[in-house]
Amino acid sequence: MNVFEQYESEVRSYCRNYPTVFEYAKDDILTDENGRRYIDFFCGAGAVNYGHNNDYIKEKLIRYLQEDKILHSLDMYATAKRSFIEYFEEAILAPRGLDYKLQFVGPTGTNAVEAALKLARKYTGRSGIFALMGAFHGMTMGSLSLTTDADSRTGAGVALHDVTHIPAPYMFPALDTIEYIETILCDDHSGIAKPAAIVIETVQADGGVYPLDIKWLQRLRALCDKYEILLVVDDVQVGCGRTGTFFSFERAGIVPDIVTLSKSIGGYGLPFAMVMLKPQLDVWAPGEHTGTFRGNQLAFVSAKAGLEYMLEHDIEAETLRKGAIVDQYLHREILPLDERLQVRGIGLMWGIDFARIPGASKEMITACFERGLVIERAGRGNDVLKIMPPLIISDDNLQKGLEIVKEALQAVLA
Ligand code: PMP
Repeated sequence: MNVFEQYESEVRSYCRNYPTVFEYAKDDILTDENGRRYIDFFCGAGAVNYGHNNDYIKEKLIRYLQEDKILHSLDMYATAKRSFIEYFEEAILAPRGLDYKLQFVGPTGTNAVEAALKLARKYTGRSGIFALMGAFHGMTMGSLSLTTDADSRTGAGVALHDVTHIPAPYMFPALDTIEYIETILCDDHSGIAKPAAIVIETVQADGGVYPLDIKWLQRLRALCDKYEILLVVDDVQVGCGRTGTFFSFERAGIVPDIVTLSKSIGGYGLPFAMVMLKPQLDVWAPGEHTGTFRGNQLAFVSAKAGLEYMLEHDIEAETLRKGAIVDQYLHREILPLDERLQVRGIGLMWGIDFARIPGASKEMITACFERGLVIERAGRGNDVLKIMPPLIISDDNLQKGLEIVKEALQAVLA
């Protein structure tokens, strides 16, 4: 009986590609129950940027548990939460000249997006939201209505009716999407009212690894200012250092009104999500946005330790250095193998686009897995092989992982 038959009673839709049962994980290596080791180019979908079972964070967690400190306090203040907030303000926001209030929602990325939507609607008194085609913002009904992944939306119905999708800027190069948005806003007959917010990922990650152009991001910020529309940046996947700066929007020098964070902000792969909002946007009435598992104290401990680790090890610079290794490898070793391939990326997130080689991306997952590499796909039709290792990956394992991708590709193309 293979592992899929064994677990048929579990409803799963994801990662059916790995016919094994994983047991251990350390830094950049996963180990299955048979002791077989795999280099990790998946990184828990971006949730373990600082590595699996990171020793520094683990020690802080163990100490916290050993001392019987409070784990669940809901909205009540607790020392772990206070230390996280103080550290986040002092070590992350202040050096960047950023001023935000923090809101803990939780426990997952989609919860942060939902809170952002609700807040934007309440603050502006408007209900419309503009989002980009190719976006992925989550699977609950509000964020699902922004997500344009056909597989995820099929049959589910979509809760928000007041969502307008704008083509992402790379989709139709001849179309100036900023002018397009402006045209919609100024057209009294369109029936599309001025939205509360425009929600974007600065790098469409699950959409197929598309870093959005810096000038475009700056023009979008200016447009939002001109029309008094809130700019929401969803940094759930590409925040926490992934692009080479802690926040993905730093490279464009823009300041969003609302930012969503989850995945690696939990530090250790623990569920944790938060919203950063400009102070003037804090119009929440007490108890207006509640939830039982907002801000679990253990997650506050690991989140703070994760930030300390990141700063101590200069993860942002390391990400850029390792990203350059991937960039070079893909251009020198992968692209020449087939002219139908395309590559793109930023920081330590890269995509190999197989759209012009039907079926190949799926075969690549299996071929990589058989050679000891766990890697996932993204994008329209899942055509993009997404290289997203933990940011702490060793140079050696990064190189080995890339070589596996090359060997797998040679086998798939043969
Ligand atoms: N926003 C973005 C940009 C994401 O990549 C994801 C998850 N892939 C989400 C939101 C949703 O996060 P979660 O799966 O934790 O709900």
